[in-house]
Amino acid sequence: MAVMVTGGAGYIGSHMAWKLVEAGEKVVVVDRLSTGFEWAVPAEAELVVADIADQDRIERAMREHGVDAVIHFAGSIIVPESVLDPLAYYRNNTVASRSLIESAVRSGVSNFIFSSTAAVYGSPSEIPVREGAALAPESPYGTSKLMTEMMLRDTAAAHDLRYAALRYFNVAGADPEGRSGQSTESATHLVKVAAEAATGKRDHLSVFGTDYPTPDGTCIRDYIHVSDLVDAHYLALRRLRAGGGNLVANCGYGRGYSVLEVINAVKRVAGHDFEVRREERRPGDPVAIVANADLARRELGWSPRFDDLETIVAHALRWEEILRTRNTTHPMRRGNVVAG
Ligand code: UDP
Repeated sequence: MAVMVTGGAGYIGSHMAWKLVEAGEKVVVVDRLSTGFEWAVPAEAELVVADIADQDRIERAMREHGVDAVIHFAGSIIVPESVLDPLAYYRNNTVASRSLIESAVRSGVSNFIFSSTAAVYGSPSEIPVREGAALAPESPYGTSKLMTEMMLRDTAAAHDLRYAALRYFNVAGADPEGRSGQSTESATHLVKVAAEAATGKRDHLSVFGTDYPTPDGTCIRDYIHVSDLVDAHYLALRRLRAGGGNLVANCGYGRGYSVLEVINAVKRVAGHDFEVRREERRPGDPVAIVANADLARRELGWSPRFDDLETIVAHALRWEEILRTRNTTHPMRRGNVVAG
């Protein structure tokens, strides 16, 4: 048995790969290294440098390694970028996922875990939002993920495939042991950008929209620690392997923070001030979104360990320091790499 982790050289995927290796699983990372890093993949994992839409290559890897489960992270994740270039999002997220799901079916891989998103809800009328709420994405990113959920639902009904789609709220923080973190050079996500500003990598932070109908006028999000998110995936893997039913579940903490609250937390924990500029709204941003995660807790037995904004921020800040002081041009990794 082996677990294929797509996007395993990226932010969340690399944390997943570490978790699986620690649990004694055989791990095959598939990543085309367009935004991920070879050094982020644990040496114990096999790294296949390939596109997930390359069906011959993926199916060969599935068979060669005896893959019984896919955890699918690979994809594009920037909401405003998806508004500007929707077809790229439908290609990278929806069309490529279709290929990967087909490869799984053809290769007899019967367990599939998918990175979905809270963006499938748009701006829900009720907060915290439950899984049964109306699905009304406000960006091509959200739509591209929702379409993949639908493909999984229909494929699971027709073939020997079980799936879990986990709808992530705002993932942030870094590995508490400092092995991985958000390393993308042009990262756009709030905690990362604020951590860069607090550690001197940027000279300011822009707040996109200060006239939203919220207490301080900025958008509200539910920030979840990447290690808790990865734990939920591991529990979902165990559930599917044990023959548990399909599951679509939110992953968040059930508490929202505004953009300004996050910025203040970063300044407080870092002990550094930085310039904050008030700017226009960003396209595709829902006003407020907070998870009701009762289902994940109940069905997966998920019990978050880092449900605390200051802990998330502290880990994100420490990762910035690690990145700053480490020479990433000399990869730490010594594992097996197979070219696509
Ligand atoms: N945001 C911001 N400045 C930044 C990055 C993000 O004001 O430099 C805001 C963004 O407009 C949204 C919230 O922070 O309201 C969370 O955005 P992020 O990109 O982190 O995640 P998303 O919710 O889009 O997945």
